[in-house]
Amino acid sequence: MNKENSSSKVTTPRPTREGQGGGSILENRPALKAEIDRVAEVAGYLWQKGWAERNGGNITVNITQHVDDEIRHMPPISDVLPIGTTLPHLRGCYFYCKGTGRRMRDLARWPMQNGSVIRILDDCASYVIIADEVVMPTSELPSHLAMHNYLIESGSRYKASLHTHPIELVAMSHNKGMLRPGVMTRLLWSMIPETLAFAPLGLGIVPYELPGSVRLAEATLRQIRDYDVVMWEKHGVCAVGQDIMDAFDQVDVLNKAANIYMCAKSMGFTPDGMTDDAMREVQDVFKLPKKRPC
Ligand SMILES: [Zn+2]
Repeated sequence: MNKENSSSKVTTPRPTREGQGGGSILENRPALKAEIDRVAEVAGYLWQKGWAERNGGNITVNITQHVDDEIRHMPPISDVLPIGTTLPHLRGCYFYCKGTGRRMRDLARWPMQNGSVIRILDDCASYVIIADEVVMPTSELPSHLAMHNYLIESGSRYKASLHTHPIELVAMSHNKGMLRPGVMTRLLWSMIPETLAFAPLGLGIVPYELPGSVRLAEATLRQIRDYDVVMWEKHGVCAVGQDIMDAFDQVDVLNKAANIYMCAKSMGFTPDGMTDDAMREVQDVFKLPKKRPC
């Protein structure tokens, strides 16, 4: 669930970059444009997979590596807005954020009309929107930024954070037995070897908490230390990755395994799953990482 809706309050309208006679921040910046194109591509997949009903789901990407002097001097087009928490490792960082109440299927076609670029101010507790339009960021911004803050603090090169509602994984989270430590990870890994290979850290579990709550954000942050993908019971997943495609791919392979499990169950049997020995062999032969590789 996502509490955002299309009538979400916005700050006083300010001139857009278009209105100031400038073009999009993406113009003449191929690396930044490629990053945003990936976000748009993933947003389309989320919609096609049925994981992004209405305005469901969120994406934020740390784009600081693509920021040049001209961007650093761009005047804000919004008021100064509070993050709601202080995140000391985000000083001077820039993020692309999906807009509050915006739909993934719209973002897929018009990423800069359904998301915006924000600059974190020096107090590390507030931000401004700098491009292209005054699209207010997702209401989950504090929890997303807290994850980015942790990733930077831990020295990780991960840049992207994704929240979405993958159908089969959410369905499995409605069973208490599945939520016991390690149960879902082992079951999903055992469905096909590639799940183990491409989601080698497994799936973290966060027991049900109110969407958008501080408790959910804190519980997620604790799990993100050990897992790239974290299951929110009866809600969805939160994933981090080197870029947004990496975060999406990890959710996709885990959900594929959940789908195989459910196909077998719907044929009337419980799938055998790979044996522990077979899984250990895959881990050893492919030298799969046991913790975040970068
Ligand atoms: Zn949600």
